[in-house]
Amino acid sequence: MIPRTKAICQTPSWQQELAAAITDPAQLWELLDLPREQLPGGLAAHRDFPLRVTHHYLSLIQRGDLQDPLLKQILPVDSECRESPGFLADPVGDLQAHKSPGLLHKYQGRALLMSARSCAINCRYCFRRHYPYSEASLRGDQLDETLEYLGTNPDIEELILSGGDPLVWSDQRLSALVQRLEQLPQLRRLRIHSRLPVALPSRLTARFYQAVEQSRLRTVLVLHVNHPGELAPELVDALKPAGRHGLTLLNQAVLLRGINDQVEILASLSEQLFNAGILPYYLHQLDPVQGAAHFAVPDEQAIELQRQLHRRLPGYLVPRLVREIPGNPGKTPLQGDLQAG
Ligand SMILES: *Cc1c(COP(=O)(O)O)cnc(C)c1O
Ligand code: SF4
Repeated sequence: MIPRTKAICQTPSWQQELAAAITDPAQLWELLDLPREQLPGGLAAHRDFPLRVTHHYLSLIQRGDLQDPLLKQILPVDSECRESPGFLADPVGDLQAHKSPGLLHKYQGRALLMSARSCAINCRYCFRRHYPYSEASLRGDQLDETLEYLGTNPDIEELILSGGDPLVWSDQRLSALVQRLEQLPQLRRLRIHSRLPVALPSRLTARFYQAVEQSRLRTVLVLHVNHPGELAPELVDALKPAGRHGLTLLNQAVLLRGINDQVEILASLSEQLFNAGILPYYLHQLDPVQGAAHFAVPDEQAIELQRQLHRRLPGYLVPRLVREIPGNPGKTPLQGDLQAG
């Protein structure tokens, strides 16, 4: 028998891994052996929206390959500094939808709570890249006001935790929030939108799964996987307990030029998601946020990709192709989705 001794080489906690994320462009260039002449443009983009990537996500990237589909999602590049007509600072009109601190109530039956302010990785195409998180997201002392609003709106049956990334919060803090939410009798479902497991599979702790299982709320985790390369073995393993603990797994992806805008990649993504127990939910057309124009895929091409996916895959593996239109009471399907469906 091996005696239990104090571990010298303990695996770092997910919080330590999160804290060790790379935020210095020069260091990223060094680690990935990137061409130095791209660094000044990268630094300029980084000043607008900072670089942030975990070592896990970095480990999935091919060194020295500027075309790597994962690298492109996190690498600050000079194209971000170009202004493009129609690409705005607040493309989805979030700043108008605030009903209470940190709460967006735009859709019937559902409200979205922006619980955390930061993310484990900063995705260059993010629609919140210019979003004033620090003002919009929830502060501890504002929770009462938000719960009061929820209490006076009995039609809200589902609460969506978004952010930033809600899984940046510790299990303790999340559980405390969930316990308060459970006191709202009308609430039936809790949905967590998170890209954190992709950046940091170790975030899916036993405590997290226990909290899900113990809650009276049906819980859905909507992951954000854009490319099959992000489904690392560590992530697939970390998701294995989900079914056993009653956690439903869905995925939303963003359609991104030069990253996943090919039918082979999207089909492979759907199949690999399914193998990992995750159903494809949404494929989002990019929100036209300033600095992300180079990621945009034209609507006609998006619709054609969707048609081809329908031909190749069973219906349940075809995500709904949608876009967010400010003021609409739900995500809007793109035309081809309706025709093909
Ligand atoms: C996307 C979104 C939702 C959820 O929409 P579903 O179609 O139910 O996935 C809710 N609130 C806001 C503000 C959203 O942007
Ligand atoms: S994890 Fe989500 S919210 Fe955070 S930067 Fe990426 S896309 Fe934006």
